[in-house]
Amino acid sequence: MPERKTLLLSLMQDLGLGQTVQSLVGGQLRDGAGDAVVLEDPYALIELTRYADCGAALAAEACEAAAAAQKEWAAGYSAAHRGDIMQDVARAVLDHHEPLARLEALVAGKPIRDCRVEVSKVAEMFRYYAGWADKLHGEVIPVPSGHLNYTLREPLGVVFQITPWNAPVFTAGWQIAPALATGNGVVIKPSELTPLTTVALVRIAESAGLPEGLVNVLCGLGPTTGQAAIEHDAVRKVIFVGSPETGSRVAVSAAQALKPAVLELGGKSANIVFGDANLKHAALGAQAAIFSGAGQSCVAGSRLLVHHSVHAELTDMIATGMNAINLGDPLDEATEIGPISNGRQFAHVSGMINAARDAGAQVRSRETTPDSGYFVPPTVLSGLGNRSAAAQHEIFGPVVTAIPFADEDEAIAIANDTAFGLAGAVWTSDVGCAHRVAAAVRAGTFWINSYKAIHVSSPFGGSLNSGFGRSSGSDALMEYTSPKSVWLDSGKTPKIAFGYVS
Ligand code: NAD
Repeated sequence: MPERKTLLLSLMQDLGLGQTVQSLVGGQLRDGAGDAVVLEDPYALIELTRYADCGAALAAEACEAAAAAQKEWAAGYSAAHRGDIMQDVARAVLDHHEPLARLEALVAGKPIRDCRVEVSKVAEMFRYYAGWADKLHGEVIPVPSGHLNYTLREPLGVVFQITPWNAPVFTAGWQIAPALATGNGVVIKPSELTPLTTVALVRIAESAGLPEGLVNVLCGLGPTTGQAAIEHDAVRKVIFVGSPETGSRVAVSAAQALKPAVLELGGKSANIVFGDANLKHAALGAQAAIFSGAGQSCVAGSRLLVHHSVHAELTDMIATGMNAINLGDPLDEATEIGPISNGRQFAHVSGMINAARDAGAQVRSRETTPDSGYFVPPTVLSGLGNRSAAAQHEIFGPVVTAIPFADEDEAIAIANDTAFGLAGAVWTSDVGCAHRVAAAVRAGTFWINSYKAIHVSSPFGGSLNSGFGRSSGSDALMEYTSPKSVWLDSGKTPKIAFGYVS
């Protein structure tokens, strides 16, 4: 399918990129110097392009460019001016909405309808944090000594952000916007498998007035490019979005350099359905929770806990309904679920389904899948307990493990019986039950009679193997700033009781 390679090049041109994947350092597109990285089209299964890993030297240049630009951004621009530029960035993102969405669909294998929503959300993120830029201030604290004591919220300096392949441009906006609003400079390393829309986003932002070098994008591999940036002296904090295994390695590297980290990791979220729920809504919600994005979502409802009285009925509704979902080319307007985003993940998801079958699961999969591409059929597993591998390990594919429960206490106990703490949901018509379960389940985000709603204005994050720290909302402003406490002798304070000045 040579036309897909041609499409890639024409989208790259429309978005101001070169003819190959290049890092963006100090406002310049730059070739890497390391090993070759191949971008494969997960639908057509052809090589789209290949490029050289950015490497440590260019990563260091990026950190230095960000440090220089950040000083000017924090001291040379008023907060209101920073907000104005971010509003301009939001508008510019919307002006480039379609090519950005198509580039994401082509490379990440995500349905174009989902990509359009995610690009719109990026504009919304810049608008939201633009509003915060001139509303961030410290406090006056009534200390007992009589000093005037006040706090300033200061930017950290340069932050290094590492993002995964499942929602590249969305995650880039999610992290870059709050960092900029709070006066920081950014170095960001998207997944080596999906780097282009992050580079394109920052090019668009620069064309809208963002100073060059303030945000730098490294196209390359974690152990080389990523590690070099974590260790660079200019970097003051690391924000990692990805798997628990890599997150742990990144946090250790950051800690060795005495740098803090935010970790946004995986999940094994419980979607709990009681017998009194509206079953049609719950079935549709459960399908969206696990099948949208082909299950490649950190908050996916991958464990479906169902009251035993409706377990058979609900799982039948989901298994039957999944045959009506449109699977196909991510660039096709009608496609609701695309392929798995890359070959490595496809092998992992397929292996987990086979292992579940070997462990005695009843496996119900959608009857057909497209001929071409890394497609895994939407699948419901039953007959396994909550301690099974399928219920404990993140599959990150369109595979849900259905588990019956007897009562509210058991549902909560099962929900909390994993190493994760990212998200969850409950479906019931009993308001009291809904709030009790929402309070008792360990999760950073929890939905009642709903699933997957998130917004830039609301905090997002997890605990345990799902990570720590918060992205989005006003909580992200705290992650990207540090307080400084200033003490002024008001003249009424007690005299210093030690030391002499002659
Ligand atoms: P991953 O951990 O393999 O990679 C994530 C990023 O880390 C990539 O950019 C990768 O290049 C980089 N990396 C790898 N090794 C590194 C190293 N040694 N040093 C520095 N960087 C390194 O994850 P993935 O497969 O790309 O994404 C899937 C995972 O992401 C899933 O576990 C999913 O749950 C998680 N995720 C979490 C959230 C969230 O907000 N909680 C959102 C999306 C995805």
